[in-house]
Amino acid sequence: MTRSPAPVTVRVPAKVNVQLAVGGPRPDGFHDLANVFLAVGLYDEVTVTPADELLITVAGPDAGQVPADASNLAARAAIALAARHGLEPRVHIHIAKDIPVAGGMAGGSADAAGALVACDALWGTGASREELLAICAELGSDVPFSLVGGAALGRGRGELLEPLETGGAFHWVFAVADGGLSTPEVYRECDRLRGDAAVPEPEASAALVEALRAGDAVALAGALANDLQPAALSLRPSLAATLAAGTEAGALAALVSGSGPTTAFLAKDAESAHAVAGALAASGTCRAVRVTTGPARGATVV
Ligand code: ATP
Repeated sequence: MTRSPAPVTVRVPAKVNVQLAVGGPRPDGFHDLANVFLAVGLYDEVTVTPADELLITVAGPDAGQVPADASNLAARAAIALAARHGLEPRVHIHIAKDIPVAGGMAGGSADAAGALVACDALWGTGASREELLAICAELGSDVPFSLVGGAALGRGRGELLEPLETGGAFHWVFAVADGGLSTPEVYRECDRLRGDAAVPEPEASAALVEALRAGDAVALAGALANDLQPAALSLRPSLAATLAAGTEAGALAALVSGSGPTTAFLAKDAESAHAVAGALAASGTCRAVRVTTGPARGATVV
């Protein structure tokens, strides 16, 4: 009797966009971006086990908002890897979800990258890094970054990655909002608000890249920028009060994380981060508050 391979668990981080420069809409509907990602220490864990057929289960406070069928990005990752290697995706994928759902922190992308790395190990497919990254790019713009982690500049629609150096840990506080925001809807609102105005080519900020390299939180705070923020605030005006509460409590800077509605606060140090978190929790302007640091490692077998 052949013994089933042991389950494989992969830990994958959330991300915050420290710069998100959005160009005009392309003919294919996507937008060209200069997207500076920083992986942060909020994680989902994806565990894969041999099964008779593809099965998805999700645990965690937001599990009810995550599809438990083949539309789950983690399932799509397993199906894509299996198809390339002539296999059937006979696997149980369990997601222990800690990354806010539809929060602008790339939770679904993290699960896809995690499932890919986990299934590769479970099935012994031995896919190269290049092959894994190519599958990630097919699954979604943010998925390649979830695989690599750390800090990186994403070009194209975000999937063409160039790793960036970081000179130390940055202290972050995240305020989780009630409900999510749909990323496509936020892009549509961004286009609507811009109207006919000329949109410059998206470029990474040299000051921001240098602040990351130097590990300089004050300089990074001065360079944070998110072109989707006006659209997220237009769709969810209540986020303005959350941003103000964190800034008043001493955050160096506050911004909407990606397409929102999670808001991100950069703090000077760990002590200040805890003070900001306490004030945000007391402000009644958000559902939950998380304190962490970035950069964090990309998808890692545990
Ligand atoms: P991004 O920051 O990349 O725009 P997000 O963090 O805003 O993404 P996700 O948490 O990735 O949003 O979820 C967006 C939607 O994708 C959810 O509403 C859900 O219906 C769907 N989805 C599919 N698979 C997953 C998954 N594994 N985890 C979470 N959501 C998933």
